[in-house]
Amino acid sequence: MVKKERRARATSNLDSQMIEPFHSKIAGVTRNNPDGTSRQELLAQCQIGQSLKLVREPDNSVDENAIMVLTMDGKQLGYLNKAIAAHVASKVDKGIQVDCEISDLTGGEIGKETRGCNVKITMHGLICNHCGKGVPADSNYCLECGGAIDSSDKPAGEKTGTKRGCLGCFGFIVLAVILIVVLSNLR
Ligand SMILES: [Zn+2]
Repeated sequence: MVKKERRARATSNLDSQMIEPFHSKIAGVTRNNPDGTSRQELLAQCQIGQSLKLVREPDNSVDENAIMVLTMDGKQLGYLNKAIAAHVASKVDKGIQVDCEISDLTGGEIGKETRGCNVKITMHGLICNHCGKGVPADSNYCLECGGAIDSSDKPAGEKTGTKRGCLGCFGFIVLAVILIVVLSNLR
C-alpha cells in the first residue's frame, strides 16, 4: 500500500515539470503575404506533421507579442492567434525552444474552399528560479547564471516568485504601521 502511494507521488512530480503541448489555429490564413504569395496556396502544399517555424515580430504595430508562423523555408502561413501569442512570446524571448508542427489541415474542398491550419505547439523548458531565464527541460544547471535547477523550479509560465515577494512586502508594511501606532500611543 505504502509503496504504491509513493510511486504515484513520484510520477505526479515528474508530470508537473513537463509542459503539455497544446493546439491552436493559425490566424490570418486568408491574407496574402507582402510579396504577393497567397497563404491559401502555400497551405495547399502543406502536410499534416510538417514542422513550422515560429518567429517573433516585435515591431508589429497591432500586437507587440506577434509571432509569425512560417514554413521551414521561410514562407509565412499566418500568425499565432493573439491569446496564444501572449503566452508564447515571453518564452521565445527568454530563449526557450518552442516547436510547432501542423496537426490538422481543413478546407480545400467543394463547399468549404477556405483552407485552415491547426498546429501543435510544444515548449521545451523551465524558467530558472535564480535569474528568470529559460532553461532546457533536461538541464541540471542554468546556462545563464549557473544556478542548480531542481524539482522545485516551476514549469515555464507558472512563476509565482513575484507574487510571493509582493505579499511579503505588504505584510512588512502592515507590521511597520502597527508598530508606529503602538509606539505613538505609548508616548
Ligand atoms: Zn539562472
